[in-house]
Amino acid sequence: MKEYRELLKDKKRIVIKIGSSSIIHANTGRTNLAKLEQLARIISDIKNQGKEVVLVSSGAIGVGVTSLGLSKRPSNIAQTQACAAIGQGKLMMIYQKLFAEYGHTAAQVLLTKDIMLDDERRTNAKNTFNELLRYDVIPVVNENDTVSTEEIEFGDNDTLSAIVTALIGGDLLILLSDIDGLYTDDPNVNKDAKFIDVVAEIDDNLRKMGKGSVSNVGTGGMATKIAAAAIATDAGADMIIANGDHLSVLNKILSGVSVGTLFLAHKNQNFKLADYLENKSLIEE
Ligand code: GLU
Repeated sequence: MKEYRELLKDKKRIVIKIGSSSIIHANTGRTNLAKLEQLARIISDIKNQGKEVVLVSSGAIGVGVTSLGLSKRPSNIAQTQACAAIGQGKLMMIYQKLFAEYGHTAAQVLLTKDIMLDDERRTNAKNTFNELLRYDVIPVVNENDTVSTEEIEFGDNDTLSAIVTALIGGDLLILLSDIDGLYTDDPNVNKDAKFIDVVAEIDDNLRKMGKGSVSNVGTGGMATKIAAAAIATDAGADMIIANGDHLSVLNKILSGVSVGTLFLAHKNQNFKLADYLENKSLIEE
């Protein structure tokens, strides 16, 4: 399996997803500036190596909640969307500042599911990504939480990042999570749970393992990560679930070190994004 890891050194168009729990301090709800600073520095260095990077960052709602001094996330949609409007702006301000310190420019791209389902709007979004990457900019993507309601939302950024990878023809998706990767069972409960290094095929057995696993990351658990892997690998990208506690994991992955769980690409020639967005059973048995 080592040769698959070696191939990761050559990846050129990389999508990195970071969840709210990795960039927000759990005890105060405030932004983890050290983590964001490290993330911006490592991504800037990956860019300096001549690679393209798209960052999918959660945290809009969480940052907004804290900015308004609320003790918890509101249950009302309009209030949640107001939080997202505030938090997204603040997050981008931080990313712009940090990336600029390392000589890079960040750009905000906010998406909803209906954009991906409409041929013209999807093509526009794809063209925008391509132009940003051509300009050597780092697109920072999130769901457009201020307007998305149930019918048009992706729901979690694991799925969103897989869709973005497929849209732009990314060759690697890295999901930074709060666990090391995929285990045969929940490692907190079952001491015999074994770590899975490489997944060549996503079958029912694997999906069952995902359902048993527990992850506290944002809105997505392990099941949504396996669903994301189904989209990304079918679209022709490798995907890795890795622990984002130490962001040096990004350098390790791109140097071919065996960390996280690697899902191998197997391009489906008939891949159509709309099939995955409209027919959930394709990704979630
Ligand atoms: N879009 C949400 C936010 O920025 C997060 C969704 C997720 O973490 O999966 O707060």
